[in-house]
Amino acid sequence: MSQSKPMQRRRLVLVVEDQEINRDILGLILEDHYDVLYAEDGAEGIEMIRTHAEDLSIILLDLMMPVMDGFQVLEIIRDDESLNQIPVIVLTAEKQAELRALQMGAADFITKPFDMHEVILARVSRIIELCEGRELIRATEYDPLTHLYSVGFFFKYADQFIRFRPDLKMDAIELNIDRFHSVNDLNGREFGDKVLKALADEIRSMMPQGKAIACRSDADRFFVFCNSCQDYAGMLERLQSAMNRVSERVNLRLRMGVCPYTEGLELRQQFDRAKTACNMVRGSYRSHLMIYDDTIRQREMYQQALINDLSHGVEHGEFKVFYQPKYNIQVDPPRLSSAEALIRWQHPERGMISPGDFIPLFESNGLIQVIDTFVWEEVARQIADWRQRLGITIPVSVNLSRTDVFDPQLESLLLNLMKQYNLEPSIMKLEVTESAYTDDANQLISVINSLREKGFEIEMDDFGSGYSSLNMLSTLPIDVLKMDMKFIQNIEHNDKDFRLIQLILDIAKYLNVPVVAEGVETQNQMILLRDASCDLCQGYYFSRPLPADQFEQLLLREFTENRSGTK
Ligand code: C2E
Ligand code: CA
Ligand code: CA
Repeated sequence: MSQSKPMQRRRLVLVVEDQEINRDILGLILEDHYDVLYAEDGAEGIEMIRTHAEDLSIILLDLMMPVMDGFQVLEIIRDDESLNQIPVIVLTAEKQAELRALQMGAADFITKPFDMHEVILARVSRIIELCEGRELIRATEYDPLTHLYSVGFFFKYADQFIRFRPDLKMDAIELNIDRFHSVNDLNGREFGDKVLKALADEIRSMMPQGKAIACRSDADRFFVFCNSCQDYAGMLERLQSAMNRVSERVNLRLRMGVCPYTEGLELRQQFDRAKTACNMVRGSYRSHLMIYDDTIRQREMYQQALINDLSHGVEHGEFKVFYQPKYNIQVDPPRLSSAEALIRWQHPERGMISPGDFIPLFESNGLIQVIDTFVWEEVARQIADWRQRLGITIPVSVNLSRTDVFDPQLESLLLNLMKQYNLEPSIMKLEVTESAYTDDANQLISVINSLREKGFEIEMDDFGSGYSSLNMLSTLPIDVLKMDMKFIQNIEHNDKDFRLIQLILDIAKYLNVPVVAEGVETQNQMILLRDASCDLCQGYYFSRPLPADQFEQLLLREFTENRSGTK
């Protein structure tokens, strides 16, 4: 066929159809818009397809033909990489045949006898557009590093899976490498890339053709969508071995979250659940595989309810600050020295909710700042109130979360509070958990240095629970070490724990900072700590965290009996 307008290339269509009348009708419909080639049977069709493979935009293929029928043509096209990008619309009179043709890769079908010409034209142009669009996005179909799918394409593809293969029950999987950013930082990007490629290769090699797809979402996050009922522990083990082969030196830990097929659940939600499951084994030493189940769903619903109730709770005074005293145990009898502010949520329906239930949750989504700013304000107000009404100045420490520390407003917010209540910064001490120091130590250190310059004192909380090295400790700006509770719990029975405590006390002495022992529950523990020259104790042995009015009673008792308080 000649090309009528050289400036605007007309698309080329091949009609493979043995009946002349049908060829004529299709020619009538198409020739105004396309250049059309005709073949009279399958064999001739294939020959023309091969000759014009580069230029063909679409093939209209009859199924029932002499010499070689349409199914054979479809099969040849499907199996030939140079041909299988060309879309095929089948022409058929039989419902049965449609399905089979679609399964063999046909893009669409047109039923005979031909009816509405506009419909036929519209179908042809739509399929051409779709396929040309696909050409364009082909470049973005793949992640250039791993050659797995890109995440956008992955989800489109997964959608198709669900639509066209409802018989396959598909599970959603998320895979992650623990602390991948440090792996990158410590070993270089090139090594990081090598790790990601190795993981991608292993994923690819494990996926049954046509029953699974995979992509890299971002950084070290991989998604797999695969046919259900697999042995996930085995799968993880295999992937982990591939990780172990990358390097003997670097310890790479994979974790995996699975959300099994759930009727009626949307694709994105299914992957959200896989992510939730995967996050639950983050940093865990014992288990690296989590399968989303009803218990997790219940927990998520509970957490969602807490999130919904948060602002109402703050507005309606459901949050209360409790105070737990810290005692100086190097004097006899021990003397009240300060307190720690601990939040409590008196929920109207759920009763008293412990911070263990909501702090980690609100830390994970940034809402913790709502609570913490409330606590700081309340504590500043309370310190000033006690000072004014009772003439007693008692230092109180508040807890800072990681998100707080990285908030650029933190310092000005705290300074404004101090100004507003006419307090010196050293009266409100700041507890920062040790694990916060391990993530982005440099930034944290600069924030903390600046706070210390302004007069705030920093207590390192939960010391011994994290990973800070001794080396790091000497460069960290801190004023007080709070030993993690787990050491204290066993000191009476476990000699090793007691020696650890002695070691921590020696380090603190070397750093010239006082040590607080937390979670002291018995007199015996207190005596052991005192004799090991620990400075301060906090725990049920002295008092549980108390509401402000009860703590005030304790303050008054301590300061009248034992007039040697802070002021
Ligand atoms: P933490 O900062 O390590 O606080 C010490 C926890 O130990 C408190 O738990 C306290 O009630 C508990 N405790 C004190 N003495 C004993 C004892 O003798 N035995 C035992 N078994 N436990 C004792 P709580 O109040 O449940 O708080 C848990 C965690 O929640 C705190 O750990 C802290 O990390 C966080 N948290 C509490 N209040 C706040 C807050 O206002 N802001 C932030 N960001 N976190 C808070
Ligand atoms: Ca604390
Ligand atoms: Ca602590």
